[in-house]
Order: sequence, then structure tokens, then C-alpha cells
Amino acid sequence: MNTLIINPTKIVFVGTNFCIYDICNMMPKHKNFPYGTEVLDPTSCKVINAVTGEVDKTTGHRAVRDKYYDIPDRKITTVIYHQTAGGYNPAFDQVLATGQFFVRDPKWKWNAAKQKWIWTAEGRGWPGFAYTWFAPFNPIIHEDKYVVFQCNPLNRVSWHTGDGCNLSGGGLAFQGYFLEPAAGVTRPMKGTDGEPSDAQLMIADGFWLEYAVPVLGATVLTGHFEHKKPACPGQTLRERLIGLRLVCGPVLGGEVQPVHLPDGAYGLTGSPGPLTALK
Ligand SMILES: [Zn+2]
Repeated sequence: MNTLIINPTKIVFVGTNFCIYDICNMMPKHKNFPYGTEVLDPTSCKVINAVTGEVDKTTGHRAVRDKYYDIPDRKITTVIYHQTAGGYNPAFDQVLATGQFFVRDPKWKWNAAKQKWIWTAEGRGWPGFAYTWFAPFNPIIHEDKYVVFQCNPLNRVSWHTGDGCNLSGGGLAFQGYFLEPAAGVTRPMKGTDGEPSDAQLMIADGFWLEYAVPVLGATVLTGHFEHKKPACPGQTLRERLIGLRLVCGPVLGGEVQPVHLPDGAYGLTGSPGPLTALK
């Protein structure tokens, strides 16, 4: 197990129940950083798209074409909640392992019929860690506070959400594999109940109310489910963040607007929606 020795100068925020601890310098980076991998289809020698596994028609370009970049004094207006949908290793071990997964070069294998390449899910070949923050399932406790990891500088535009959210958004990933029956995810990982921990629920609340809104000045709280990933971050955190929008209306001095969700997806018709309407 990796041991994290807390260096107090790396604590960037202290809230009621949690603190944010900067581990940006410890996170793995791809050797091509700020670019990612370049992978060739072993048969055609054409570049494979590291995300989709599709062979790109044009050759000679990086498979992961874009790069991570920094915007000086970037203003994070949007916070997006995610689940890792991954393992339950101890907090610091898992954040490092997740970081390795993102930067490890991807591999493909033939499908059974040998018609196409299938991504083996062993790595992404991305420039660095996807999310801005990482909330462990069993967080380290430092001076009575749950330790949330900050994994990218706030100025950095990394890849967590898509849908145009990354530019001025910060992604907070909750470690674990959480159920979302509305998206067909109904079987928990062995040995778990498929629900976030109590610590994570506390972090979900505090992060938005005590940090994102008053410190970052964020105005939009959303979940990956609203950006083409229905199972993320799972039912409990989805409902939690929708509830937080209600709580947060008065905080922002705004008015919660009714949301239009496609076809009443997730049974949320009439629920408060994205805070984009709030001033
Ligand atoms: Zn997600």
C-alpha cells in the first residue's frame, strides 16, 4: 500500500467535514504530455483513435490528437460529478492506479470474428489524469477531515466530461461502482452495495456548498448523466446533486428554473435543473 504523508502546505482548502489536498505533482503523466499516445493498428499501420478504437483514415497524426492545456486564472464555472466506476483500493492507491490507467497506452484485440479491433480497457493513453478532483470511497482522515485529492491544477483543461464542459468545468470523481437502475446498472461490484459511502455523501454536499460556490464562484452543478453518460455518477449521487441545486438557489441569490429533460428521463420531470439560469 502506498503511504501518503500529509504535507500541510499542500492542503488547499479546509471545510467542515473535508479538506482538499493537492497531489497534482504526484499524478502520472503520459510521456508525450501535454499530448497523449500514438498507437498504430498493427495490421494496417494506420493510427487508431485511442478513445474509440477506430482506425483513423489519416495517418501520421497522434491518435489522441488534442492536448491538455492551461488557461491562466481559469474560472471554473461548472462542477461535474462523476463516479469512477472502478475499484475499491485504498484511497491513495486507487487515485494513483486510476492515474496510471488514464496515461497507460491503450491496447486492442481482435473480436471473435476478427472483424474489428476491440479496446481492452487497459489504458487510455491520455495526457494525464482525467478529473480535477477525486473523492475516495474510504478517504484518508487528516485532523478530523476527509481528504479529497486535487489531481490537476485548477487552470488545467483536462478530459472528464466532454459536451463542451471541460473548458470551464472541474470534474469531481467519486471512487466506486454505483448503481443507476434508470441506466440499467443494477448489479453492484462483488462485496459492495453499489452505493457511495457516507463520507462521499458528506463530501458531495460540502464540496459544492462550501467550496465550489463560495470559493471557486461556480454557478453550475451538473452530473455526467446530463452529458451523454446516463450511468454516471449513479442514482444516489444524481439525486443528491439535484437536491443541492435546490439548496443552492438562495446561496447564489438566484431562482431555480424548471428543467427540460428529454422525455422525462430518469423520472425527474419537474425537478430543478441546471443552474445556468441562475445569476
Ligand atoms: Zn463520468
